[in-house]
Amino acid sequence: MLPHIVWLIWLYMQVIITNCTTNQPELKKDYCIIGAGPSGLQLGYFLHKAGRDYLIFERTNTSGAFFIDYPRHRTMISINKRNTGKTNKEFNLRHDWNSLLSDDDSLQMRHYSHDFFPHADVFVKYLQDYTEKHGINVKYNTNIVNVKRRDKFEFQMQDQSNNTYDCGTVIVGTGLSLPNIPHFKGVEHTVGYEDMSMDKADYEGKTVLIMGKGNSGFETADYIMSATNFIHMFSRTPYKLAWNTHYVGVLRNRTVYTYIEEFPVNLLDQLRTKTGHDTEEVLVIIMQYGKKRFLKKFTGIPGKAHLSYFLHPVLYYYDELPSSKNLLLSTHV
Ligand SMILES: Cc1cc2nc3c(=O)[nH]c(=O)nc-3n(C[C@H](O)[C@H](O)[C@H](O)COP(=O)(O)OP(=O)(O)OC[C@H]3O[C@@H](n4cnc5c(N)ncnc54)[C@H](O)[C@@H]3O)c2cc1C
Repeated sequence: MLPHIVWLIWLYMQVIITNCTTNQPELKKDYCIIGAGPSGLQLGYFLHKAGRDYLIFERTNTSGAFFIDYPRHRTMISINKRNTGKTNKEFNLRHDWNSLLSDDDSLQMRHYSHDFFPHADVFVKYLQDYTEKHGINVKYNTNIVNVKRRDKFEFQMQDQSNNTYDCGTVIVGTGLSLPNIPHFKGVEHTVGYEDMSMDKADYEGKTVLIMGKGNSGFETADYIMSATNFIHMFSRTPYKLAWNTHYVGVLRNRTVYTYIEEFPVNLLDQLRTKTGHDTEEVLVIIMQYGKKRFLKKFTGIPGKAHLSYFLHPVLYYYDELPSSKNLLLSTHV
């Protein structure tokens, strides 16, 4: 009999110990979103609107924390074209690359900055306002360090203080912010974009090699150009321009693309001296009458606009500035 009693006491103690040491979930949510960056907040907005049981977990003490440090040179590369001449909201949103989707029109970047490329601090403020005005639920200072699947449909997450959270669905919105460090001999002598000095005096009169011709490479070149002696830029492949590829991840930097309005096309050969832009490639957009002017007709078909009598935009591309002689010979410009 005695061994049985001892065994029962031991079992009872184990149950008590297990209950004491198992982390009871601090919270249970149908939807757990990790990260209060633009993507987490946008999803939070729609879940909130739909009345769902959700919570965003953010390791810092603010929304949009990525943009407190990045871009390092503090100018966004996403455009804020405030006026398009149109009232169509969807069309206008295509010219506003910063605002999140919202029913509240006051939450548009156009009301926060008049700059075409806004300051990154303004975007942080925008994301904080977006969170507050919509009442999006965010648990700040909560770094999720572990996510495990408990059974078929449930997840359990753990934060830095061993608090646990039960979640029906987990959505990871933690961004892609780890530096991409290349492997080559001597890489230890290089300084990454994430650590580079922002004091222009450190580059005074120096020759700087920038590896990479993407947005951060050109952003850096743009920033230090006034101090350096020479800047060399290396890349495995030629740079690609976003306006060319339609992929926003490739180069959008202004160093290589400047918009000049109403420059007389017959003076194109003098572009450098007249404007000071030491340019190579030129894309010219002009309004032009169709070749068959005598037809005096409106085709109504965009692809046949060149047949039309009416003015229509025509693009010309030069991979180097035309000479004055070439301009005279040219049939188009
Ligand atoms: C150098 C650089 C410059 C850029 N400049 C621009 C620009 O000018 N304009 C533009 O539109 N885009 C820019 N981008 C792209 C932009 O940063 C991303 O598209 C955008 O931040 C992605 O949003 P996100 O919500 O997915 O991630 P993020 O904005 O990175 O947000 C992720 C959030 O998750 C949090 N988090 C991460 N891990 C955890 C965890 N374990 N637990 C809890 N929270 C966590 C982070 O603190 C952060 O707040 C730039 C990117 C880079 C690298």
